[in-house]
Amino acid sequence: YLPRILAIGDSLTGFGGAAVILQDVTKFRLLDDVKGNLVSTVSHELKTPLTSLIMAVHMLLEESFGPLTEKQRYLVETSRDNAERLLRILNDLLDLSRLEGGASRLNRRPVSVAPLLDDMAREMTAIIEAAGQTITVRADAVLTEVNVDPERVRHVFINLLTNASKYSGEGTEITLYAEPAPDAFVRFGVRDQGPGIPPESMGHIFDRFYRVPDQAKKGAGLGLTIAREIVVAHGGSIACASNAGKGSDFYFLLPVGNVTADAAG
Ligand code: ADP
Repeated sequence: YLPRILAIGDSLTGFGGAAVILQDVTKFRLLDDVKGNLVSTVSHELKTPLTSLIMAVHMLLEESFGPLTEKQRYLVETSRDNAERLLRILNDLLDLSRLEGGASRLNRRPVSVAPLLDDMAREMTAIIEAAGQTITVRADAVLTEVNVDPERVRHVFINLLTNASKYSGEGTEITLYAEPAPDAFVRFGVRDQGPGIPPESMGHIFDRFYRVPDQAKKGAGLGLTIAREIVVAHGGSIACASNAGKGSDFYFLLPVGNVTADAAG
């Protein structure tokens, strides 16, 4: 909408300054587009060689080419872990650039709230139990359906539940909940009894590549950014309440009701 704003600047003397500022914003937006394209092209190009590298490493680990010594196995396993981590980061970057570019359409449909939470809990149980934690589901009985893209929303839950498990200790409980919210929204949340978020990091955790300093866990700092983009694409919002040392509560709003699928997508 730059030309329209320039027209205002032209006709009303004194608005030239505003026009210049908006022009700058447009430049930034263009730069963002270029960056987004670059990121997605590079990620795409890197995925193919990385995938064949991972396959080769798996074959070595299966000892298809002869037995490995202990030292060799250790090195090959480390290579596999790092290559797989890199692939996850590339996939996250691709997802994020699609979401930020508005290229990924939402396939919305009515999804029942309680079964959605049960499915998510079931899907994550193995990982959560392996970490010595438990998961509890609490879905308010008055809730019926949300109008969402189930695959995308699944991604949000996976990212939040993975974090809750990754950052919390053994013997803790993770609660997955849904409750009514004003204005035809449902509030979903993942509550944990982990370390919480330090106050100075609270304003940054949804930023791209941000990780709380001195966090020992390996992550790229993209999971929450992706979660936020997906929620925002649905017209909702996401936030975190945290008590340092006691736990975190990541919650987000998704629309209820019967908004026609693709009209809202
Ligand atoms: P990452 O891949 O590093 O986990 P995220 O974007 O998912 O990236 O999270 C950003 C940062 O926020 C994490 O690196 C971690 O420091 C912090 N964080 C996220 N979830 C939790 C949580 N449930 N408890 C404590 N810290 C968390």
